[in-house]
Amino acid sequence: MPASQQQIQQQLEALQQSYLVRLQQDWPQIVAMAGQLLDANDRGWQSIAKTLKQRFHTLAGSAGTFGMPQLGQQAKALEMELDSWLEIDVRPETELKQQFLQMVQELSNHSSSMPQAIPAPLFQAVDDEFTRKAHILVFSKDGELGKQLTSAMDPFGHQVVSCRTLEELKAAVAVQKPDVLVLDMPQSRLAGGLKKLLQQLLTNQHQPTVLFVVGEKESFNQYLAAVRLGASGYFSKPVDAAAIELRIQRLLALRQQARFRILIVDDDVMLAQHYQLIIEQAGMEAKVVNDPTKMLIGLQGFQPDVILLDVNMPDCTGPELAQIIRFKDEWLGVPIVYLSSETDSQRQLDALVKAGDDFISKPITDQALAVTVFARAQRARQLAEMMIRDSLTGLLQHATVKERLSDEIAKAKRSKQELIVVMLDLDHFKRVNDQYGHLVGDQVISSLANLLQQKLRKTDVIGRYGGEEFLLALPDCSLKKAKVIIDGIRQSFQAIPFSAQEQSFQCTFSAGLARVDTSQSTDENIDRADQALYQAKHNGRNRVELA
Ligand code: GH3
Ligand code: MG
Ligand code: MG
Repeated sequence: MPASQQQIQQQLEALQQSYLVRLQQDWPQIVAMAGQLLDANDRGWQSIAKTLKQRFHTLAGSAGTFGMPQLGQQAKALEMELDSWLEIDVRPETELKQQFLQMVQELSNHSSSMPQAIPAPLFQAVDDEFTRKAHILVFSKDGELGKQLTSAMDPFGHQVVSCRTLEELKAAVAVQKPDVLVLDMPQSRLAGGLKKLLQQLLTNQHQPTVLFVVGEKESFNQYLAAVRLGASGYFSKPVDAAAIELRIQRLLALRQQARFRILIVDDDVMLAQHYQLIIEQAGMEAKVVNDPTKMLIGLQGFQPDVILLDVNMPDCTGPELAQIIRFKDEWLGVPIVYLSSETDSQRQLDALVKAGDDFISKPITDQALAVTVFARAQRARQLAEMMIRDSLTGLLQHATVKERLSDEIAKAKRSKQELIVVMLDLDHFKRVNDQYGHLVGDQVISSLANLLQQKLRKTDVIGRYGGEEFLLALPDCSLKKAKVIIDGIRQSFQAIPFSAQEQSFQCTFSAGLARVDTSQSTDENIDRADQALYQAKHNGRNRVELA
């Protein structure tokens, strides 16, 4: 169970208190060291200066995060001052040293003053109710688009409300905020009232509406106009309803996916803990590794979407760690973001050339940290998903779906729960292709894929096994219940109207179900479902048979 926002806020405040305590303990030491630097003889000053520089470096990176940005800035100035002395290897002049000591003393006053309160988070990942049904508003003057989409979306369980005037649209919005607004773009300028309403809907903090624009043709100017309205999708007429449905599915799936996982590698325990809380507060999962040599263990069990890596650590630097991560193929796709108070841009670039994808400079505001990490994680997930998914349907590809089935069989063996495997095949599909063409055939395949994704549970495994064949695994489900579910999908599917060449037609599928026998191999289990499918075809098609 993730901690509540209130708990996180309390933990953040407690952490800030601990940081203050630590700072007050450390402070006399820092002042003493600065004094020693003044008195040190010609040979001893470098080592003191180096230690002090490291202390200020840490302070510069952390004070801002714990609500003392000014202290952080002055620490940064002192770090750079020391750095320049060390670089030219000249012992600081007495005058400069005095000035330096004065700054240290000023810092003393800062460090004992109360830090700024930690602000409540502004950014939060959407964490909404689990639903795969969308509430869709269609705004079209002639009402045709509304009619078409209503009949196309109905079998998927989406609710469509068609509006022809701005007043109707406003009234519909007042009843229920839409998940998606499909706007038939008028040829003339958009009315001011509509623009205002769009802005309200699209920038809604809690759950923004997604805008799809339907235009007369595909052109750069039309795309640009759509983007300027805030659209996330553009469709030209005649509208392909299945394509819109697929986009809606993807959007809903994105909202429901497992929380992003962020691995934080930083030797500063408190700072790492603070980042962890901020990331959790934004609705993501975070794990901290303080000892860089333990990072590989952290990676294994956690499977992060993003790795946040400190640059300066004892034993091993961030760029070195990044290069180790890149040794392994399985971590090649995980973005590495350096988190460092390093302001030297040449050193940042060097780090990026070795390995890594991005740089965040400490101190960073909590908000910026959360947004940067979230955006990185989202992109990484998208790309990772694309690699294992079939491009037409968005379902798992042949090899991946078989792998997932094997995993499910292993799980079922451990949990002793029932697992059902389903083979599903479109009926007389060759005729569809022959009569209406391959592209229309593709639309039928993707509609079935959408329907399966929409009707099945998040925990079910759905894959495109072959051309017009699908393989499903339904965990924790009895054979009887599975039959009811698949038969329900069969009935919904045969009700979907397809149209091509001014003709309307329907399609059906047959399915074979088998209860998994965990003593058998994956292939043997698939084979039994396949035999049941064969029976369904033999018995007249458009039916479900059990093995
Ligand atoms: P049955 O009811 O016995 O399954 O008959 P069928 O015509 O569906 O079976 P058959 O296996 O003879 O033909 C399957 C057809 O599916 C042949 C192939 O061209 C078509 N097909 C396979 N993959 C795709 C695809 O990705 N897109 C399209 N449009 N057609 C495909
Ligand atoms: Mg077939
Ligand atoms: Mg087939």
